[in-house]
This record gives sequence, structure tokens and C-alpha cells, in this order.
Amino acid sequence: MKVLKFGGSSVANAQNISLIKNIIAPINRDKTIIVVSALGGITDLLLQTAQLASIQDKSYTSIFLEIENRHLQTIKELIPIHQQSKVLSKVKSELNILETLLEGAFLIGEITPKLSDKIVSYGELLSSYIISEYFISEGIDTAHTDSRQLIKTNNHYGKAIVNYNITNDNIAKHIQECPHQIIVLGGFIASSIKGDSTTLGRGGSDYTAAIVANAIDAEVLEIWTDVSGLYTANPKIVKQAKAIPHISYEEAMELSHFGAKVLYPPTIQPVLSKGINIVIKNTFAPDAAGTLITKNQNRSGKTVRGISHVEQIALLSLEGSGMVGIPGISKRFFEVLSQAGISVVMITQASSEHSICIGISDQDTDLAVEIINDAFSHEISLGKIKPVIAEKELAIIALVGDNMKSHQGLSGKMFSTLGKNNVNIRAIAQGASERNISAVIKKDDVKKALNSLHEEFFEENVKQLNLFVMGVGNVGSKLMNQIQLQKKYLKEKLRLNIRVIGIANSRKMVFNEDGISLKNWEEALSNGQSTDKDLFFQTIKNLNYRNSIFVDNTASAEVSKTYNTYLRNSISIVTCNKIACSSDFNNYQELKDLARQYNAPFLFETNVGAGLPIIDTLKNLMASGDKILKIQAVLSGSLNFVFNNFNDKTTFHDVVKEAQEQGYTEPDPTIDLSGIDVMRKILILARESGNELNIDDIVNTPFLPKESLDTNNNEDFFASLVKHEESFQKMYAEASKADCKLKYVAQFENGKASVGLQHIPKGHDFYNLEGSDNIVLFFTERYPNQPMIIKGAGAGADVTASGIFADIIRIGNF
Ligand code: ADP
Ligand code: ASP
Ligand code: MG
Repeated sequence: MKVLKFGGSSVANAQNISLIKNIIAPINRDKTIIVVSALGGITDLLLQTAQLASIQDKSYTSIFLEIENRHLQTIKELIPIHQQSKVLSKVKSELNILETLLEGAFLIGEITPKLSDKIVSYGELLSSYIISEYFISEGIDTAHTDSRQLIKTNNHYGKAIVNYNITNDNIAKHIQECPHQIIVLGGFIASSIKGDSTTLGRGGSDYTAAIVANAIDAEVLEIWTDVSGLYTANPKIVKQAKAIPHISYEEAMELSHFGAKVLYPPTIQPVLSKGINIVIKNTFAPDAAGTLITKNQNRSGKTVRGISHVEQIALLSLEGSGMVGIPGISKRFFEVLSQAGISVVMITQASSEHSICIGISDQDTDLAVEIINDAFSHEISLGKIKPVIAEKELAIIALVGDNMKSHQGLSGKMFSTLGKNNVNIRAIAQGASERNISAVIKKDDVKKALNSLHEEFFEENVKQLNLFVMGVGNVGSKLMNQIQLQKKYLKEKLRLNIRVIGIANSRKMVFNEDGISLKNWEEALSNGQSTDKDLFFQTIKNLNYRNSIFVDNTASAEVSKTYNTYLRNSISIVTCNKIACSSDFNNYQELKDLARQYNAPFLFETNVGAGLPIIDTLKNLMASGDKILKIQAVLSGSLNFVFNNFNDKTTFHDVVKEAQEQGYTEPDPTIDLSGIDVMRKILILARESGNELNIDDIVNTPFLPKESLDTNNNEDFFASLVKHEESFQKMYAEASKADCKLKYVAQFENGKASVGLQHIPKGHDFYNLEGSDNIVLFFTERYPNQPMIIKGAGAGADVTASGIFADIIRIGNF
């Protein structure tokens, strides 16, 4: 014989219930027991209406009507018209009794646990009756049984304890005597020895099914639900979670204890001693294999089987010097809680002789605080123990696996993964069986914590990077393009899954939690909301994704001022905007410190030499113990372009104009031509080589006439270039006469930096620098005479985008 249990969503409406018929159709002529939950959501509605009635809130009647309609509608859709009247009248008469009970609660303005159980039992009572009548109408040989007649409990209403002796006999006898092939029972409900309705705890239909399976020595217990098995983590929160094909009773028990709702925790216990297998299956995808739960230990070699979590947890701590050496304190502590029916979800390792720290359900907090303070009032009044401290809005997250005990370093890996993602751990505990390690964290961090742990333990190192891109002009749009083309390769070869979650330009911004399509991002952005920098940050913060990266492709000082807020929230930064790194030294230093403190890389490779790996190389030299003696460089792609094209056959004005048009200059060309841009770059290189320098410390000998430098807009600037053409031609003529080329050179040596136009003779490394190329010579202790040279295209949207992309990938490999 088999026992099949169908949960709330599987029986939520007529359409879903009709799927069950197909599932039971292939079953042979063996007797089969079907245990069903209330129609999905009805138990909550029953509790809600009872609660409203008890506070004399008349709106309870509208919820009652909703309950009534759901049932009547289901009957009308499920059962052929000519067979409906009997079912409708029976259900209506039951609903009348329910209505009378609610009226009673309303009139007295009170609801006892006993009445609450009576009211809530209507959910399973009605669903089981309707489903059995549906089977009958389909010609299936079916009987309906009121589980309250079989399952006997004590009178701990809300979560009654089963009397197995009586219950097992009742069930075995009833099933044996029942002449029908299918027997439909309501889950969750039972009755006391005196005959009052009781319930087995929320989610308890699974338990009913297990009790029945045990009593009749079922060959298997099938739990049919809305997911395809017990998953490596809650699939509603972790999209990458996978169904676990085979798991042991103990592992399943631990996972459900720590919140894997798909199985009600006490369910395993009745089937354990007889070794009855449990299979978890999906009503909506019956062909999926599901999860097999058996007595056998996990031999797959996998250490961590699953990750589960319980929300709505509070942490209680009792501490004080008066606890040391006094026997019986913990006994009293736990006794008070147990007498009040408060269950302790976890006891943390912070518990010592000096303090006790436990996790309980949030809803029990107020009561727990009251009774504990009461129980220790004497010690508290003497100052020996402090009043109990309660912290709410927490969650427990647990790693579970049979093989965990024989593996060292798992907790280290767990905590460092959480730490890296800035998930603060409030308390930790390890189960005595060493089958679980659990941590208490903030409720708001659950999604991030689950996903990062899942990635670490289950996803063969596929790391998800979540990008939020500000600025999608020249560089930004090239970046989108590059990511789109490379996405597949990165996933397959580097195991990096890059998703762009947010995009903004100066006008609009858009977010998509599933990742913005990189083919149609322009359209999505044009339909987005108005840009608001604070809201952009706030949205990223609230989404609270692991590996969030803010990509700044703007040249905005305003945007660069927001970096510290991002870093403080563990959001990494990749930027081609030079302003932050060339701002006041203290600000630069603070950003670097924040990046370290919050484990959020702050990368700006493109600040110098666009896509050329200049800063990265410098960092590697420094990290390996080398010392920078001198840096000599041509760092302005724009100025190089200008001086490579300027000669006695062109005009300075035209060449600068062309450079601007080709995107080689900043939007404001004076930033390049005044040397400010190069000053910023050499400043950043000097700082990255360990020197405390500010922009004012850099000597800049300008080559532009003062009048051009002092212009306020591009038009005046270009006009002044025309006016001073003669002086530019003179500069050129002098250089040619000396057989030299003009190059704008930046230099750093002995703590001093300078920038300016120089005559570069033939044979010098800079002489043959083409187009907009950059070149850097690093003279170091290891490269004292022959410098390390990095040379190549140092400006342009495509290479800058690829430098940003490289930084993003660096974070992926971090
Ligand atoms: P039913 O109504 O069928 O009893 P439940 O809602 O009680 O269904 O349990 C199924 C739900 O359990 C899933 O929809 C899922 O959201 C949740 N769940 C939590 N953790 C897990 C997990 N590790 N594996 C599968 N489901 C899980
Ligand atoms: N209907 C009950 C509940 O919602 C029992 C169950 O569905 O398992 O808690
Ligand atoms: Mg359930």
C-alpha cells in the first residue's frame, strides 16, 4: 500500500485537483491512502477570520464569505452538475456550523485554543470531502474518512501530541476493513481522547501522512507538492538550487528543522523505525524524479547536502557574573521556556557559564522575555544577572550534510563566504551530530547569504557578478557590447556569470532583477524612470545582491563623491572616472581603506592608459616587493595624437578639433591640453607606488598661452588656438630643428612629479610613439637600467571599455 499526500497548492483549486486524478490513475488495484491539505491558503484565512471575530471586528464575515466561495466554486468546477447538489448541501451545512462558531467567538470577543483548532479543522475536513466526492464522480472507488476519528492526541491545541498506541490501531483496523480502493483523509487534523478537534501544527498534513504510512506499513510515502523535491536551498530564493536526488532521513530532518518547509519536521519520525521511504514529487511536473529520502546515509561523497534557513528568529541572551558557578541556572532557564511551550530552535556557542544565548521564534519573544525576567527576578534585583536581552528580525541559516563531520574547514569556508559578502554573523552553532553548522544573521541578509553559500558549495564555482552601470555613452555602450559578446565564454571557461541589473545615464535609469537584456538595453533604458543618483544607490543596497559592482563610466565629480557610500555597503567599484583617485589624498586613502575594510574591490585600471595594464602591473611589482625608482611616461593619448599630427602643414586648431571629434579628448579639451589630465594620471601612479602626493605638488609647465588656458567654453578655446597659431608653429619648428619630436611627458622621481612638453631625440623610447598610444617606463630596483615598458593604445572608447571589463573580471577572480 502507498500513502500519497497532496499539499495546499496541489489542491488549491479545481484545476489543480484534477491533476491528482492523473497521478493516481496508473496505481494498480492496491489500496491507496490519499492525505490532503486544506485548499491552499484556507488555513491562513480560517485563522484570520477567527482572530478578527475574537477582537469583535466585523470584517471577519467577509473573510468567511471568501472561504465559503472558494469551496463552493471548487465544487461547481470539479463535480458534474447532476452530482453537485448533495456535495453542495453537505458543504453548506458544515459551513453553517463554522459560521456559528465564528459568531460565538465574535459575541464573546474571545477565542480559546480549543475553539481555534475546531475552526481551523474545517479546512482539511472540507477539502478531503470535496476531493473524495470528485473521485467518486470520476468513477474511482473512493471512501472519505474523517481523520479525527483515527488520529488521537492529547489536548495541546495547535500542536497536539499523538497517542500512537490508539492511533496506530485505529488506522490499521479502519484501512483493513474499508472495502474501497482509495481512501481520502484530511491531513493536519486529529482529536483528543475526549473527542475535541485538535491539530498537529502548521504544515502538519505531511505528518498525518507519515503517521498513516507507519500504521499500515506502507511501501512508500509520497509527498506531492509544488516543487520537484527537496532542493539544495529554497528554490523560491535561490534560482540555481537543484533538487537533491537522494538524501538520508537525518539530513532531511535537519534541513526541515532549519526551515525547508517542503517537509514538516516531525514527518520523518513515524517512518524512521520501519524504514519506509519517502519520495517528494511535484504535482505540476509529475515526470520530474523528485527526491528519495531513505534510511541510508549519504554516500555520494558530497559534504554539504543542502542549505536551509528559518526566518523570524529572535536571539535571547541572559548573562551576568552571578551565573558563574551557580548550578542549575540553565536548567531553570530551559524549564521556564519549556513550561510556556516555547521551543528553542538553537543554542549558540556563545553560551558559556557566564551567559546563555538561544534562538527562538520571533513571535515567542515577548512572552519569553517576560517569563525569564520573572523567573530570575531575584538575581536581577541583586544585580547578579542582567535582564534578558532580545534581538529580533533575525534568521538562522544552516548548512546540512551527513558527511560534514569528517570534513574540516567547512565552517571556516561558510563564515568567510558570509564575511566576504558583508553578512554580519550574530551567533553560531554546530549540531551535536555535527550534521549541521548554523549561523544567526539579519533577516535582510538572507537572500544574499543563501545565494553566496549556494554558489560556494554547489555551483562548481560559478560566480555571479551583478553589475550596476552608470554612464552608457561612448565607453559604456561599448562595454555593454563587449559583455554581451563575451558572456557565454566567461560562463563556460571562467565560470563567471555576469548580469547587468541596473543601467543609468544622466536622464534615465532602469533595473531588472533577472538581468537586463544586453541586446535591448537601450530600449529598456529609454522606458526607465528618471535618474536619481541616491535612488540608484538605494536600489542597489536594497537588492542586496552578493558581488554587486558599481561601474562608473562618467567623468562626473558628483558621481565620484558617492563612492564611499557604495564601498561602505560592500558594493565594489570599477571606474574610468579619474576624479576620485586624483582628489585629495585623504579621500583617495579613505576609499582604499574602505575597500579593504568592506571587502569590496575598488578598481580603476582605466584611469591611466585606458585598457593598458599599467596600474595592475604596478600593483604586482609592489606586491612582490619591488620598489619604484622612477616613472617616465607619455600618458595622454589625446596629446600624443595632437603632437603626432601637428606639423608645418597642419594647424594646431584643426588637429585639436579632429582629436576632439574622434573622441580622443575629454569633452572639455582644456582638461587634456592644460596637462590636468596627465597630472591626474601621474598622481595616481605616484600614489599607487606608495607616495603621499597631492595634485598641487606636481610641477606643470604649460605650453598653451595663458589666454587659451583661461577660456571658459570650447568655442572661445578654439578661437584662441587660431589666434596663437604662430606660437604653436614656433614650438614645432624649434623641435624639428633639433631633430626632435614634441612629446608631452610625465615624470616621477624622488617623490617629485612633473608634467610638460619635451623635445624627444631620435632613439628615445618615446620617439616613435604612434597615434594616440601611451607608454610607461617603470624603473625599479629590479629593473634599474632597462625599465619595464608598457606601451599601446591609450585612449579610445573600445580600449577603455575593455579595461573596465578586465577590472570586472578581476573582481570575479578575487
Ligand atoms: P505544501 O503546501 O505542498 O505542503 P509547502 O508550501 O508546505 O507545500 O512546501 C513547499 C515549499 O517549500 C516550496 O514551494 C518552497 O518554497 C519551500 N521550500 C523551502 N525550502 C525548500 C527546499 N530546500 N526544497 C524545496 N522546497 C523548499
Ligand atoms: N493546512 C495546514 C496548514 O496550512 C496543514 C498543511 O497544509 O500541511 O498549515
Ligand atoms: Mg507543507
